[in-house]
Amino acid sequence: EANSNEEEYFESYADLEVHKLMLADSVRNEAYRTAICDNPDIFNGKTVLDVGTGTGFLAILCAKAGATKVYAVEASDMAELATINVHENEVVDKVQVVQSRVEDVELPEKVDIIISEWMGFYLLHESMLDSVIFARDKFLKPEGLMYPYKCILYSAPSYSPDLFEFWGNISGVQMNTIGQLYRTKYTGKPEIMELDPNNILSKPVEVYQFNTKDVQLNDLNNISKNVYSECIKNGHVNGISLWFDVFFHASNKSDIILSTAPVSSPSQLTHWKQTVIVLPTEKAVVKTENVHYKLFISKNESNPRHYNIELSFLDSDESNTMESETVVDKKK
Ligand code: SAH
Repeated sequence: EANSNEEEYFESYADLEVHKLMLADSVRNEAYRTAICDNPDIFNGKTVLDVGTGTGFLAILCAKAGATKVYAVEASDMAELATINVHENEVVDKVQVVQSRVEDVELPEKVDIIISEWMGFYLLHESMLDSVIFARDKFLKPEGLMYPYKCILYSAPSYSPDLFEFWGNISGVQMNTIGQLYRTKYTGKPEIMELDPNNILSKPVEVYQFNTKDVQLNDLNNISKNVYSECIKNGHVNGISLWFDVFFHASNKSDIILSTAPVSSPSQLTHWKQTVIVLPTEKAVVKTENVHYKLFISKNESNPRHYNIELSFLDSDESNTMESETVVDKKK
């Protein structure tokens, strides 16, 4: 069972469509490109390990930024295409593509920098960070750098009109009862959606923050947070949303941030969008009202690439708990 999960996982990354989705995310690409290429004094002359190189995108940027040696490790068959890209970009002398799980690879030396794009939906989905932690403990020099180095998971009560308002008026015909039935299909499940920042009803609260240089595997098994959110406007809450930011070191400058927060301009939207746990009913809230809930995010025991997200409302009349296994299967 565990092994078939793993085969399935790496097979999904042998699909060029999945990589195209990531490579079409210019917010993602530009954050990494700026972090790498606008900091040549960080990458110049360094040895780098790219965990999960995919098409070789990040490894090639590192070589362009002056890294002398880049180990580009990729478990899926995409490694073959990464090799082609390395030739096409004329960095064969610097980038060495290795098709292997990073857990099974041997390198001739320790590296100065580990770079990886390991983030899944709501940051943790896919648990690829586990592999980055493994690589860090085995291959990173003690004074080495992690790219990204800091991660923050956020949450806020939200309103998603798209799922439910639809049924209220279809060319003048009301279908609200069907709308309620339809809603049950989504209730309690994390949905990947694009939220309008105007529909975020409180200031975002940090659910979890860690540094990739020192986070331990155990820290990622059970994440529990009581969220106290003060509403910043009147509205309706029909979901609890999650998203994340990751941070990159920049020399002599403030950090470069890759944010997946709700945005008003489509050009700022990432392929991660936001994750919304849909509530069974809608709740009216007023400005300054407190919404108080508990999130318990725990690694699924039968499929450690998935998490269970448990949501309970702490001081409402109907103190209900919702439990859901994350069913979003493909990363992108
Ligand atoms: N770095 C590329 C691809 C990111 S997607 C880019 O930024 O475009 C993550 C990639 O990591 C996938 O191709 C996946 O197959 C690979 N991967 C995940 N876990 C891995 C592991 N343990 N060892 C090697 N490759 C891994």
